[in-house]
Parts: sequence; C-alpha cells; structure tokens
Amino acid sequence: MRLRTWRGMGLVVDVFDEDTLDRLSGRAAIGHVRYSTAGDSDPANAQPLAVRHGRGQLAVAHNGNVVNAHALRRELEDLGSIFSSNADSEVVVHLYARRKEQRVVDRVCRLLARLEGAYSLLLMSEERLIVARDPHGFRPLMLGRLTQEEGTDEGGEAAWVVASETSAFDLVGAEMVRAIEPGEVVSIDHTGVHSHRIEGPDAPRRFCIFEDIYFARPDSMMGSRSVYQSREQLGSRLADEHPAEADIVIPVPDSGNTAALGFARRAGIPFGMGLVRSHYVGRTFIEPQQSIRHFGVKLKLAPVRSLIQGKRVVVVDDSLVRGTTSHKIVEMLRRVGAREVHLRISAPPTRHPCHYGIDMPSYGELIANNKSLEEIRAHVGCDSLGYISVKGMLEALGQARERRYCDACFTGDYPVAFEQAPKAEPLPLLQPSSRS
Ligand code: AMP
Repeated sequence: MRLRTWRGMGLVVDVFDEDTLDRLSGRAAIGHVRYSTAGDSDPANAQPLAVRHGRGQLAVAHNGNVVNAHALRRELEDLGSIFSSNADSEVVVHLYARRKEQRVVDRVCRLLARLEGAYSLLLMSEERLIVARDPHGFRPLMLGRLTQEEGTDEGGEAAWVVASETSAFDLVGAEMVRAIEPGEVVSIDHTGVHSHRIEGPDAPRRFCIFEDIYFARPDSMMGSRSVYQSREQLGSRLADEHPAEADIVIPVPDSGNTAALGFARRAGIPFGMGLVRSHYVGRTFIEPQQSIRHFGVKLKLAPVRSLIQGKRVVVVDDSLVRGTTSHKIVEMLRRVGAREVHLRISAPPTRHPCHYGIDMPSYGELIANNKSLEEIRAHVGCDSLGYISVKGMLEALGQARERRYCDACFTGDYPVAFEQAPKAEPLPLLQPSSRS
C-alpha cells in the first residue's frame, strides 16, 4: 500500500474540498490540524509529515511539544540527517529511520524513549497505524471504534479510530473504547489492536489542566469525566470563592458558557446570553498584532442591550491571558448601560508560558505576571475581579488529594525541564500543498 498525502495552509474546509477527499481513497488515514506552538506557521511545517526511508514510508501527526527537539536535532544533524522543516515533530521521523529493530512497533517504543515533553502521536506505515502518548500524558488521546451501522472495514471487522477528543467520535458515529494510557504505544493492523509500552521508567501523570478549563470541547469526555461537567464545577466553585451581588450572570461565549452556567446556578442569579458571538470571525487570540486582536474582539462579540441595560452584571470567562478580551467586553457592557460589571475567571491567574503544546504568550505579555490583582482590575476596567484559586480549581476537578495535572501555566511548576528554542531560521518557500 502506498501512502498519499495532502496538506495545506488555512481552514480544513478550504484545504479539503470534495474533489480532494474523493481522490484520497484507502483503508487507513491520519489527519492533523496544526495550531503551531513550536516551529513556524509555514507550509513546510504542516502535518502529517510524510517521508520515504530505507525500508518504506512513514507519516506522522503530532500534538504537543517535544521539549528536547533542538538537542535531538543537533545530534541528528551531526550524524548527517537533513531536516526539511523546523517543526519539533520532524525529529521523530529521523529517529525512526535510524532504528534497526525488525518490528515497526519496537522501533517506535525505543525512539520515543529519547523524546522529552508532550506528545500524542499518530504514525502510519504501509501496514499499520501506531499511536502513542508521552509517559506524563500531557495531551489527550482516545481510542474508539466505529459501530456496526456506521462502518466496517472490508473484512467485516469493526474499524478503529483514534482522536484527541471524543467529540470527533460522535461526529463519525464511533463509540469511545478507552483513553490511550500515558506511556502506551498501540499498534493497529489487520490482526487487531496491540498494546506496548515506551521503554523507560513510569512517569507521574500530568494531564494538561488547560484542556479541561478551555481547550477541549465541552461535548468531549476526558477519561470518565465530561468536560462540560468539569467546567460547571469550576463555575460553581468560583461562585463560592468570589460571590457578587448582581442581577444577571453572562458568559463570554463560547469559552465561558459552561462555567457561567455553574456560577449562576450556584449563586442563584439568573443566567443570560448577554453577549452574542459571530461565528464568521476566527479566533482573536491567535492574531499576531494587538491592534487586530482589539478590533477582532469587537467584531466577534456584541452585547444584548435589552439584557444588560441598568443591570449589575457578572461576566464569566475561562481565562484572562493578555487582558485584551475582557477589557473590550467591559467597555462594551458599560456602553450599553451596565450599572456594574464584575468579572469572574474560572481559572487561576495565567502567570507562566506553556512549553507543552498550548499557545501562550511569553512572560512579558501575560498580564497576571506583570500586574497585581488590583492593577489588572483597573486595566480591565471592571468593578470587581475574582479568579478561582489553584486549590479551588483542583478540588472542583476532583483532584484534591492526588495531583495528576500539569498546572505549570498557573503555578510555574514545570514537570519536565525544557530548553529555550533557538531563533527559527527562515525556511525555503515550498508549495502550499503537495501530493505524493
Ligand atoms: P486575552 O484576551 O489575551 O486575555 O485572552 C483571553 C481569551 O482568550 C479568553 O476568552 C480565552 O478563552 C481565550 N484563550 C485563552 N488561552 C487561549 C489559547 N491558548 N488559545 C486560544 N484562545 C485562548
């Protein structure tokens, strides 16, 4: 079987039109939507990476950040490897090509022992799909199965599916089987599903707490717990820690919706959708320029005057990073007549950048790293400001006794040491899409 790849820059719907999808026939597929947290936003860094090596083909899709990628790259370049991108994920294919083990899965188990940091990986060869999760389990990775009605492969056996989030399974009519365990390597081929371990000692679990707070979709399950339930609990705890005398609780849609519901219910204050979100505008957070981010918030969110005018309003959002969104929102609410605006955040202050796969600005841009609570309140312009405490967050997520999360963005307690990335070198311009 030959591997065919199709990659491009932009939105999935624009890159994969009907014609393209029709031409991508086969028994197995992997895909990736890149939100670059390491390496440039450049066509050469688009995934899946696909290569030919001495013994065949390999395609790789990677979610997370390999924190020792630069050291590994230097070592591989000294041995003669030539890199075609500056994505941390490319070290995986070079390490793979150098391994001598007979079985593909053994090569993968050994090579992964060299990586440090966060990775949920899909590797596809001509015969099998191999999926792996780093020993700390920073990023999610779920195993599912297409139900009989939705699809079976040619032999009549149920087809396996793997995704970061279970919401993807619902879309294609698959059911969740289980999470891929931290440190687990699963090989899927015509003989079924076989579990292996990455070589090396076990590591403490450190699932990214920001997945539960913001990143994951509320219709996903993270282990046995739904993301929706977690966010509602966070909102409820936030109401206990920072009550407010108010007439209405409104979320910053969509990220604050569930926590705001939890807050309103717990506080016994009516809930309303006081801000309407335009679904035709992308994420303002990712815009590189502050001026565009400011304008973007305005385009994206609009206040409902009839709900807000004359009211004491509690606004709930999941996080405050640079403070751009909240500042604009408070201004908007006051313009339509809010009497008081109380901002509540269902995460603790974001004080430290993420090195394991979430796009977070540097220390200089993180408002909570540079200002006191009162200074942040004044910058945002609200009447009061309250963040959930670290203890409250962990308790709301059912982790009071046993710590199984990575919460470095709030505490600075980084589970894996990281090296600072050297300045990216410019890459040669490549075709935006390629087919092989
Ligand atoms: P800011 O405007 O910089 O304070 O960012 C806060 C807003 O961005 C909140 O509404 C969050 O839901 C959202 N947000 C927080 N972290 C991220 C992230 N890593 N990527 C995209 N959006 C984010």
